[in-house]
Amino acid sequence: MTAHAILDISNIEVVYNKTIQVLRGLSLKVEAGKVVALLGSNGAGKSTTLKAVSGLLALEDGDVTSGAITFDGAPSGALKPHDLVRRGLFHVMEGRRIFEDLSVEENLVAATYALTGRKASSGKASSSFDAVYEYFPRLHERRNGRAGYLSGGEQQMLAIGRALVAEPKLILLDEPSLGLSPKLVEEIFTIIARINRERGVSMLLVEQNAAVALAVSHYGYIMETGKIVLDGPTERLMADQDVREFYLGMA
Ligand code: ATP
Repeated sequence: MTAHAILDISNIEVVYNKTIQVLRGLSLKVEAGKVVALLGSNGAGKSTTLKAVSGLLALEDGDVTSGAITFDGAPSGALKPHDLVRRGLFHVMEGRRIFEDLSVEENLVAATYALTGRKASSGKASSSFDAVYEYFPRLHERRNGRAGYLSGGEQQMLAIGRALVAEPKLILLDEPSLGLSPKLVEEIFTIIARINRERGVSMLLVEQNAAVALAVSHYGYIMETGKIVLDGPTERLMADQDVREFYLGMA
């Protein structure tokens, strides 16, 4: 029996500004309930892949010129980013993109608008906020503080918390380790693994830090210049000599 793919990217090509081709026939799948790592060097096209899925590519004058993307059984190409959020797809972008002038809790409130198009009832909102605060007690402590004053790690927690409020089926996570200390990276990845395990949320995780990404992933893909060059279950990738040498820094 093959598991249901929550995300199926089939042979896509992406071009920016009608001229620069970045993805060249990229295919990958995320099975429901799994964490999948997408690894590769700088400029390989990892962020572009996530933007193609969430529809944010259009904001950067990028187009999916061929191939197909299916999210939860339906073609995603015709849907706007906010419709995809309501269907359960949430993109946590690189660089966190929180509202710095709002408080921590106001950032969560803003995420409930994305889910429903209006403010959630206070009971429903507070129960989804409770879940966020349970995973990230530090956000609870700082819930009335200005989000712009949070540390980098706390901002990353808030970015993931905003995704949780939207009750996603699939989270696209772009470089959650960026700029964080090793201790915080470990803390955040422990919580990413818990969210997957406890809530069954599928994740597509883009990371430069291959070791931490593979530690929480069930399956991994490695891309180079716009296409997948290697994929497999995490244990198999971690045993692969090239992966060990080039991505994990092991001899
Ligand atoms: P990084 O880890 O450095 O972000 P990445 O694998 O995520 O790398 P992308 O950000 O997807 O790579 O970029 C892939 C290629 O597409 C790069 O050559 C980049 O210069 C180019 N690119 C990205 N965004 C745009 C854009 N808006 N317009 C034109 N070219 C772009």
